[in-house]
Amino acid sequence: MEKYAVVGFPIAHSFSPDIHNPAFKVLSLDAYYERIEIRPEEFHEKILDLKSSNFKGFNITVPFKKQIIPYLDKIDSTADSINAVNTVKSIDGKWFGYNTDIDGFLDPIREVTNKIKNVLILGAGGAAYAVTYACIEFFKPQKLLIANRNPESAKKLLEKIKTDSVNEKKYLALDNAGIMHEKFDLIVNTTSAGMGAQKEINPLNIKKLYHSETIVYDLIYNPPETLFLKQAKQLGLKYLNGLEMLAGQAKKSFKIWTNQDYPGELDINKMLTEKYFK
Ligand code: NAP
Repeated sequence: MEKYAVVGFPIAHSFSPDIHNPAFKVLSLDAYYERIEIRPEEFHEKILDLKSSNFKGFNITVPFKKQIIPYLDKIDSTADSINAVNTVKSIDGKWFGYNTDIDGFLDPIREVTNKIKNVLILGAGGAAYAVTYACIEFFKPQKLLIANRNPESAKKLLEKIKTDSVNEKKYLALDNAGIMHEKFDLIVNTTSAGMGAQKEINPLNIKKLYHSETIVYDLIYNPPETLFLKQAKQLGLKYLNGLEMLAGQAKKSFKIWTNQDYPGELDINKMLTEKYFK
């Protein structure tokens, strides 16, 4: 049997096994996907154990997307440019690293590419790097603002990612973002404000920042409607949560590992919604 996993900390609540195991079944692949929790202080030792095991591939998530990089034998150029890996494929014991969050993020908004010129991204953690890279490469925005609680991290993000094609780029403190008098075509929350213990936090009041066509995108999928999305809904805006992104990144990882497309008859959104949100 081929073994796959998602590695992170904490990991008990990951939905990923519920995405990959049904696909192995549909395609009659003798494979199994499990959760592996590694405590941050044991990362080095446990990741070397994993390397000497017979896992064919794994997803790697918070807080290890950057930490995994020195253990790879090769890194894909996109993953390298954002310094974050979420998918590892093992071939004859050699590890190849990729980032499929970029595709996942774009999947639900690809058809509006030419409408997105002014972008506001909240957050400057791992996910914000993938989102910023995706926005620059695919939307070619004229204006790009990164607002983070700690503005220094937003500054670093703009220094790391190639932004030459963007006319106007700025970073600012999240606290100052709500008082700007600017309208955005896309506002993305990549912060963890709105989930888990931070469920009651709305990272930003967007009442001064939208126009009638603004798209509001929250990477959080649990809960499916954060306070941030609730405000977008009240304002009558188009909005989406991170479930389709989760599905999109998983499909791309599946293809990397198995060289097969994720089965079209499986609707990940529906499977997860039925299992976790009904
Ligand atoms: P991360 O590297 O830990 O970064 C967390 C970010 O959230 C930082 O910018 C941090 O700001 C900010 N933040 C945390 N608490 C905050 C608060 N109370 N108010 C304002 N800002 C706050 O995490 P990540 O990997 O980027 O993930 C971020 C979120 O994206 C998580 O909710 C994760 O579940 C989600 N995500 C979803 C998908 C998907 O497939 N849908 C994929 C990847 C990530 P500071 O820098 O100031 O601390």
